[in-house]
Amino acid sequence: MLRFDSVGMRYADGTVALKTVSLHIPAGQFCVVLGASGAGKSTLLRMANGLVSPSSGAVHVDGVRVAASSLTQIRPRIGMIHQQFNLVLRSTVAANVLGGALPAMPMWRALAGLFPAATRRRACELIASVGLQEQHLRRRASELSGGQQQRVGIARAFMLEPSLVLADEPVASLDPHASQEVLALLKRQALERGTTVLCSLHQVDLARSFADRIVALRDGAVVFDGPPEDFDPSIARAVYTKATEATGAAAKPAADAAAAPASAPVWTSPMPLHAGVLEMAS
Ligand code: ADP
Repeated sequence: MLRFDSVGMRYADGTVALKTVSLHIPAGQFCVVLGASGAGKSTLLRMANGLVSPSSGAVHVDGVRVAASSLTQIRPRIGMIHQQFNLVLRSTVAANVLGGALPAMPMWRALAGLFPAATRRRACELIASVGLQEQHLRRRASELSGGQQQRVGIARAFMLEPSLVLADEPVASLDPHASQEVLALLKRQALERGTTVLCSLHQVDLARSFADRIVALRDGAVVFDGPPEDFDPSIARAVYTKATEATGAAAKPAADAAAAPASAPVWTSPMPLHAGVLEMAS
């Protein structure tokens, strides 16, 4: 469904954001990408919808290679959910959700705001399905709480029945309670529709609660790929320890990481602690 074949990314300034990453994410999977800030999570997600072109390797969505020439074909199949919600704050909830249908509309209709009746019905259904009420339809997005705004973001992402949803740190701006609610909602929407989700997070506890599979990145390399129950605190510590901080014997698994099969957890022994790791892993 979503395939990263030996993708690497070196930005123009020489920063290597991803080394050689290969992943196959099957249809319907809720895959969480974990990692500290700068690990390469956003770069990976942005490759899937062509916002970033890999320096090496290839990405395929539904068997179609992501490239400049295929973007018009691929983009309508992909829903995006953003950390800062990316809503038009002065527009209504209804207008924001309808905006999710724009990539599939002719330009003249989009400019005139002429949404077909079926599209309007779908927007209403989705707004209801994310737990918002009729009175919210005409409310400006700016008048909603963060959790409610992200519900609008989820409804918008599902407007075109995407086969893939990319969620880039969707709960980073929310409190713990709203984070749980929003992820539960995202998971339910995806499950009901068989949608594949690639979701980046930095909270280990949320990843363990919601993921079907966790892929952990550290310094641009996959250091764990497996089921959430295998992602134990010692692995969490390793993921959140920068390679440059790992010394002596503890640094050895980093070399093993490159050679280990993607399906096997890489880290098996406790690693030096990095500030904040214990709270994140608990
Ligand atoms: P994450 O999402 O895990 O925080 P990113 O993918 O945003 O990680 O970044 C990975 C690395 O690539 C970081 O070192 C970051 O500074 C760098 N990076 C991201 N975008 C760019 C860019 N446009 N130009 C140069 N370096 C970048």
